[in-house]
Amino acid sequence: MVDFKVRKAEDNINARLPKLFNESGLGDIIDKGDLVAVKVHMGEEGNFTHIRPIHVRIIVEEIKKLGGVPFVTDTTGVGLDRPRGTAVGYLRVAASHGFTSETVGAPIIIADGLKGLSGVKVKVDGKVIKEVEIGQAIAEADCLISLAHFKGHPRTGFGGALKNIGMGCVTKSGKAQNHLKMKPYVKSELCNGCGKCIGFCPVDAIEMVNGKAKIDRENCVWGCGCWAICPEKAISSWGEMHRDPEEFCIAVVETVSAVVNYFGKDKVGYMNFLYDITAHCDCFPFSDNPFVPNIGVLASRDPVAIDRASLDLVNQAPGLPYSVAEELGVLEKGSDKFSKITMIEYLNRFPPVDPLTTLKYAKEYGLGKMEYDLVKI
Ligand code: SF4
Ligand code: SF4
Repeated sequence: MVDFKVRKAEDNINARLPKLFNESGLGDIIDKGDLVAVKVHMGEEGNFTHIRPIHVRIIVEEIKKLGGVPFVTDTTGVGLDRPRGTAVGYLRVAASHGFTSETVGAPIIIADGLKGLSGVKVKVDGKVIKEVEIGQAIAEADCLISLAHFKGHPRTGFGGALKNIGMGCVTKSGKAQNHLKMKPYVKSELCNGCGKCIGFCPVDAIEMVNGKAKIDRENCVWGCGCWAICPEKAISSWGEMHRDPEEFCIAVVETVSAVVNYFGKDKVGYMNFLYDITAHCDCFPFSDNPFVPNIGVLASRDPVAIDRASLDLVNQAPGLPYSVAEELGVLEKGSDKFSKITMIEYLNRFPPVDPLTTLKYAKEYGLGKMEYDLVKI
């Protein structure tokens, strides 16, 4: 770990990141000539508390020094009509947030193709998930470095290394599968036969039958967001289709497991950036006040240990005034901030989830350990 306390230039976090990267053993996963997927989330349009481009660049330069060939990558978001719904849209948003090949020092490649439908399918034998579709460019890489902004998440309590992999490395279909327990369907009593959804569907999975739209759920690839574009709200809504929080956490963990096993544990490394720690994840189109002070950056080869240590550090920190920590009454050092955060958005629709749920399942799936030694550099 490097912390944010700095009194002189040479102790600046930017100056200490290369040491953190190398001393934590992340460099060891890279062989000369490896194509290295540097997985980041470059922020939804309107969000400005995502990871900073300069920190991505510093790690990119370290990878190059080791003979790796890095590219910076993420996948498109759910919903073709959303700002990051296509590779073109995502690159436009990323540039507006300061992420360009010039600023990060490597090409930026949106991994799941132009519309987010391009990936490599991997069979899994999970409780919830049976097949995971890894974004094509990530799947073709030789190794994977996760650079995750650590923050809250109203559905899971927090988002860090596990979520950066389990949600971020898969196609639109994979993201929809993690979130949703069913494919969309048309409520024929509400459908007026306007045909808008038929023109929108990228795989022709919707047809008109007796003046009403009908979704062929076999051919539906999920995740394109037809439910959001129907003017009559005749297609099942996101909320109606969503998994309950525990099942959602299991789905994410099973997807992480598929991705990590695909690469092999010795070809994946993790860094968590604990700054601008907001209650919502970077997929939200806004940035609330951070609820704890900036803490530092962690690096590890174990995604469970790094997320557990990050969660503990945030809970141990004092809450900040004018933030959700004050609103929820968790200003004291040591108060369980993440448990409260799951209550801010979805309390009326979903029961709050224990933030340890994701970690508990990740440990059960053999992804890593809850125990850790925190070594400060
Ligand atoms: S967009 Fe909505 S109202 Fe129009 S055809 Fe499709 S389901 Fe029916
Ligand atoms: S029917 Fe399925 S494939 Fe077609 S737009 Fe809707 S989610 Fe996408």
